[in-house]
Amino acid sequence: MTKVVTILGARPQFIKAGSVSREFAKYDNFKEIIVHTGQHYDANMSDVFFDEMKIPKPDYFLGIGGKSHGAMTGQMIEKIEEVLLNEKPDWVLVYGDTNSTLAGAIAASKLHIKVAHIEAGLRSFNMKMPEEVNRILTDRISSILFCPTQTAIDNLQSEGVDKWNTQVELSGDVMQDGAIFYRDLAEKPPGLTLDREFILSTIHRAENTDSEKRLTAIVESLNEIAEQIAVVLPLHPRTKIKLEALSVKLSSKVTLIDPVGYLNMVWLIDNCKLVMTDSGGLQKEAFFFEKPCITLRDETEWVELVINNFNTLVGADKAAIISAFKEHTFSNDFSIDLYGNGFASNNIANALINYEK
Ligand code: UDP
Repeated sequence: MTKVVTILGARPQFIKAGSVSREFAKYDNFKEIIVHTGQHYDANMSDVFFDEMKIPKPDYFLGIGGKSHGAMTGQMIEKIEEVLLNEKPDWVLVYGDTNSTLAGAIAASKLHIKVAHIEAGLRSFNMKMPEEVNRILTDRISSILFCPTQTAIDNLQSEGVDKWNTQVELSGDVMQDGAIFYRDLAEKPPGLTLDREFILSTIHRAENTDSEKRLTAIVESLNEIAEQIAVVLPLHPRTKIKLEALSVKLSSKVTLIDPVGYLNMVWLIDNCKLVMTDSGGLQKEAFFFEKPCITLRDETEWVELVINNFNTLVGADKAAIISAFKEHTFSNDFSIDLYGNGFASNNIANALINYEK
């Protein structure tokens, strides 16, 4: 029996677990215990994903949200340690790059419990991003690194992974598994009237929301674009607070909606004309659903999308955003396999069950 404690805390982690936990449930010799740290706790940022994606209800809910980075990470380490002492798993599984990821990895490694990291090896090379710090530290103390792309493996190799006594797997991207599985279950968000082409936009990354200058430029750009095409913006709670304090307001032509569940989100991605986002996950989902993507960041971890011209990076520069919207010609040959074509969760389950060291 392989026993895994999975640490979840934030929306993108629930979405990834939707595919991986479904795969784990297929194996009799596999037991998964789910810990929800509470980093995201609103119904529309958390519960909806457990319900819709049929993720098993968390065995532990730690209730640690809405705190500073240090307080959140510290309290999570302490509480996760208690869970691990109680459960004594073979593995702690962590996803991505949030404070919950790092806290899970630290708590496990101090107890000499092996850490498996899904979405390992990604780098933005911007150490001011809290996510970059979380990724680098988590990778360094993991026993298995599940890399979604060859670029991620190359990044780890240039950091010296060969000397870390760590297994590196090119697993593919679990978000592609989800995109394939949930596509047929997609549902139009209730109450949303859309009778013409639209752009789907999301903004939540701290580098944009916490900078008045960048957020203002993004708002002004969306306002200008909304004069020409409908724009739908599911609003992240952090962005909502920051927008309220901003002197420039979003025009009434931008359709603001509350954060939506994954089935509604898949519908929006599948039906939009273009994605404009600073989200990591949404950049890939745009590709899975064959939509061009304008990324409101200065760098991306998903460089293969930019290299292959499915995505263009415009930062938070109004002229660059408008020019990308009006003039950029994107590739529309989506036949290239960049993310493993939907077998990532299966690869991950097999690697954990067959691990020998
Ligand atoms: N997402 C969602 N509802 C929303 C906005 C985003 O289900 O209202 C999904 C999106 O499709 C993607 C994931 O949330 O699968 C991305 O999460 P987020 O942008 O919060 O984080 P990131 O990927 O940047 O870490």
